[in-house]
Amino acid sequence: MGSFFSDVLSQDPRFHSRKPLNDLDLLEPVTGGLVQQVMQEAATLGISLMVFETYRSQDRQLDLYDQGKSQLHTVGVHHYGLACDLVRDVCGQPSWQGDFSFLRLIARHRKLIWGGDWGNPCQAHTFYDAVHLQRCSVARQVALFRGEWYPDENYDPYEDLEENGSITLMASAEEEEWERLPELPRPVAQNATRTGHPSLFKTSRAGAPAPHRLLVGGAGLVSTRTISTGLNETRL
Ligand SMILES: [Zn+2]
Repeated sequence: MGSFFSDVLSQDPRFHSRKPLNDLDLLEPVTGGLVQQVMQEAATLGISLMVFETYRSQDRQLDLYDQGKSQLHTVGVHHYGLACDLVRDVCGQPSWQGDFSFLRLIARHRKLIWGGDWGNPCQAHTFYDAVHLQRCSVARQVALFRGEWYPDENYDPYEDLEENGSITLMASAEEEEWERLPELPRPVAQNATRTGHPSLFKTSRAGAPAPHRLLVGGAGLVSTRTISTGLNETRL
């Protein structure tokens, strides 16, 4: 059966583009709609965002690798129209500066996985990509890259995480946190441990399998470098 990747992206003349592309039409339609909703929600918080990159070719990924801007030779979820990088719009120019942790709750609300926590704020991640959103759980990436799976319009990556034994369910307290978002102080720093706020998150279910390893990019590569916010060199 066809997919947006096989039917649209792979037929597009930009399939091998070496330039960053920010066309929302290159996102799988549900993903594109959710990305637009994220931007609108950020705007209600007074944060102006712009799309920096949607689809990415393998050719561009190799260029980024050769330039030392990515540690991954194999293109990841961006290649499948399921990932988007949103950066700040500062006078019409893209900016990676500042805190992007506001995206955590907005992305969760819109059922997109944020590269700041990979859908699981309770688990430490070694790869932090604050401007990255994707509509695919990390656990599902291997099947995506192999061409064995593509999300349907009802796919929810958080349900997927839950079914894969992960521990990311939005607890009712976090839903309340969402409701109060405009009044909240600035979000916590990335990678902060949440031991001080145990009530906000559900903890591991008894007997649940260990959370999957973080797989980023293609071919199951795992980054070991911690990416701090504000960097624009790393493209996931
Ligand atoms: Zn990205």
